[in-house]
Amino acid sequence: MTFPKAFLKKNRKKRLEQGHPWVFPGEIETIEGDPQGGDVIHIVNHVGHFLAQGFYNSQSQLIIRVVTYSEQDEINENLFLKKIEQAWNRRKWLVPEATSCRVVHGEADFLPGLIIDKYEDVLVVQILSLGIEVRRQWVYNAIIQIFNPRGIYERSDVPVRRLEGLQEREGFVDKPFDTKVTVLENGLKILVDVAEGQKTGYFFDQRENRAALKPMMTGWGTGRGVKVEENGLLIDAKGKAIKNPFWDGAEVLDCFSHTGSFMLHACLYGAKKVTCVDISEKAIEMARGNALLNGFLHRTEFIAANAFDYLREQVKNDKTWDVVILDPPAFAKNRQAIEGALRGYKEINLQGMKLVRNSGILVTASCSYHLSAPRFLNMLQEAAADAHKVLRLIEFRRAGIDHPVLLGSEETDYLKFAIFEVFNR
Ligand code: SAH
Repeated sequence: MTFPKAFLKKNRKKRLEQGHPWVFPGEIETIEGDPQGGDVIHIVNHVGHFLAQGFYNSQSQLIIRVVTYSEQDEINENLFLKKIEQAWNRRKWLVPEATSCRVVHGEADFLPGLIIDKYEDVLVVQILSLGIEVRRQWVYNAIIQIFNPRGIYERSDVPVRRLEGLQEREGFVDKPFDTKVTVLENGLKILVDVAEGQKTGYFFDQRENRAALKPMMTGWGTGRGVKVEENGLLIDAKGKAIKNPFWDGAEVLDCFSHTGSFMLHACLYGAKKVTCVDISEKAIEMARGNALLNGFLHRTEFIAANAFDYLREQVKNDKTWDVVILDPPAFAKNRQAIEGALRGYKEINLQGMKLVRNSGILVTASCSYHLSAPRFLNMLQEAAADAHKVLRLIEFRRAGIDHPVLLGSEETDYLKFAIFEVFNR
């Protein structure tokens, strides 16, 4: 079988050879044959030497997306099954304890524009490329064969699909089922609604980052003036006996809490009190339900509010916490929006830092691809300068182990997660 061929320009940057999985229109010298949207096309260099096979879409800026570097691979249903199986085997190997995780992470699993997330016995699919869109039945078939799931739900309800010339789509792939699933993460039960939650229902990318909170959730009692008397009795700064078993735990503010995953981890690791703030009433209700499900209700409080207003108000009220967590949505949806987004990030971080007690902890994240790690850290430094704080970085993390990153494709490396100690200046 002969395939259409895209001849790349002679004097191009060798991005493809450096692991970048996309070809842009400007990199193509000529196209041989008459490829239709979604077709397989061979990518060759200027003298016709084979480089890769990919999916073609003339409507997209990502005119070709690499599927395989092998000329022999036949891009058929069996190859899809094999790729999805391989991706799942990698996850079982890397995160053996996870019953819920990302199974396929798009380009990084050589299935460009395909996301598959496993929520216990429910699988969620998100399709972001035309090449996968026209072959989606292969994806569903592979999922049924590998996982025999209780149900498959599609969350292709994202505006970026328009860049591929695709409409948004959401719903049951086959027969309807209860879309609420209790996933297990780091020993916690987390109720997720795959039809309602953010993205595909929940954020698996912060699994390891949530676990990284552990050492910071205790060790705060003596700083608050708690003393252990000779008879072993605990007394607080006012000399009163302490009965709270979580007396040594952190007081935590979890901003942009969504369904409360950071709150749950904080409680699991010994926090004294966690305040969740989210603008969405629905998310707050889910978070409260999750606290109840895990027996943490008495250590939590829930506020439906705009975090920008809430943070500013608490600063005005001189309120402080041991640990402040900021995990906002992506403020920069595209490269043009970056300046405005930076102002937003700086504002919440500046106010957030002011709310941290001296030598307390700021946990801060950004999931905007368009904000590079160096710019993120630079923004934090500027915020610290304005807030009269000095930051000491104790951990810098990325997305979890089930979200691998192709070197050469910074687009797949979107999540930045930093833990700082915050000192007054
Ligand atoms: N920390 C969460 C993920 C946060 S997603 C987790 O680990 O699961 C971002 C959340 O921010 C969403 O729940 C959204 O409702 C909320 N949000 C968006 N804009 C907001 C604002 N201005 N104030 C407060 N919450 C906001």
